[in-house]
Amino acid sequence: MKVFKFGGASVKDAEGVKNIADVLEFTGYKETFMVISAMGKTTNALETVVELYFEKGDYVSKIKEIEEQHLKIAKDLFQDSEEVFYSINQFFEDINAFLRRNKSPNYNFVYDQVVCCGELISTKIVSAYLNSIGIENTWIDVRDFIKTDDTYREGKINWSETEKNFANLEKGPFYITQGFLGSDPNFFTTTLGREGSDYTAAIIAYCLDAESMTIWKDVPGVMNADPRFFDDAQLLNKISYEEAIELAYYGASVIHPKTMQPLRQKEIPFYVKSFLNPENPGTEIQKELRLDPFLPCYIVKKDQNLITLTTKDFSFITEDKISDIFNRLYALKINVNMMQNSAISLSLCLEDKYLHLDEFLLNVESGYKIDYEKNVSLYTLRHFDEKSSYSFYKGKELLRQIIKNTLQIIVKE
Ligand code: ADP
Ligand code: ASP
Ligand code: MG
Repeated sequence: MKVFKFGGASVKDAEGVKNIADVLEFTGYKETFMVISAMGKTTNALETVVELYFEKGDYVSKIKEIEEQHLKIAKDLFQDSEEVFYSINQFFEDINAFLRRNKSPNYNFVYDQVVCCGELISTKIVSAYLNSIGIENTWIDVRDFIKTDDTYREGKINWSETEKNFANLEKGPFYITQGFLGSDPNFFTTTLGREGSDYTAAIIAYCLDAESMTIWKDVPGVMNADPRFFDDAQLLNKISYEEAIELAYYGASVIHPKTMQPLRQKEIPFYVKSFLNPENPGTEIQKELRLDPFLPCYIVKKDQNLITLTTKDFSFITEDKISDIFNRLYALKINVNMMQNSAISLSLCLEDKYLHLDEFLLNVESGYKIDYEKNVSLYTLRHFDEKSSYSFYKGKELLRQIIKNTLQIIVKE
């Protein structure tokens, strides 16, 4: 089977949904498994619903607003389809009913039970539309297949259960399912981390021993820089899994970093292509492909924090101290994107997704003098040469590090 994944940008409006049909007519869709994300920025909007719910704000109006957006897309796609309108309305009724009845104070649990609706609704709409124009497909609930533990918002895959579930699936039809979702041992919904739909496609490709996987994007493929920030970004025709995993790890957000590992294990060819120009080859990612063309690659990670801890008593930064600091960071789910130490100080570039940085600083302030710069950017340049390492960032340089062919600079913009 082939696995396709269409992200939020590809289904942000009715035109986008119609375009998927065009892509499928071009590529064919026999023995295909298609993973779809929530429409446009729906996940962000549903995150706001959860925030409002916990702040005792007006979450009901926000839900209504999201429902209206989906109804508008459905009205543009269907002249008259009572069933689709009814099922959209039902999803939003269910969110309201769940929140009214909910007693759990667990933010992450509630988040997953609410935010999952973005993917459930978008796949319902796309599936119904494709069926209505003769592209027959079978909608499935991915939560019956992808099993995880109960780490809400970051579900860890139970591979053996998941593989077993996919083994029972009949191989023939054209399937449509949701990205980003799974379910825990008690069948509560889990999510796999923001932007996790690429990863879902890779999990499915792995379980089905797929012949290839293609993710369809609003860019020509993987480029040597994000075209939103670099005007002269160029398409990379071929890269290896290793290069792709490094680029994604350093922050090239075109592919979710977890995507490559399952594909590489089974050596499944992976393509990143443009949903606007499906006839173009895009980027091919396979084993041991040499970067072609061989270019320096630029990656920017925004919203970072540079923290320098210096021992108050002038003692060395020893392994036990580093271990204690990292254990605290791990417990607070703060990611370390770069580190550097000297005799008595340790500098860390930290990403604070769950807003726990202040708690961390309180934890360590008795032993260390703390210097910090919030809102810095981490610039990474892979395969750098003398020419490319000049002037690829603007702003004041705070820290620089070179590891093999990778140069990293922390900048105050
Ligand atoms: P999806 O619709 O699947 O969610 P994303 O928006 O997550 O897609 O990813 C596509 C975006 O990734 C592009 O619009 C582009 O701005 C950004 N991007 C970041 N780095 C790169 C890169 N190296 N090459 C191409 N696109 C990149
Ligand atoms: N809809 C989810 C998100 O926006 C998952 C995804 O799009 O990959 O994070
Ligand atoms: Mg995305």
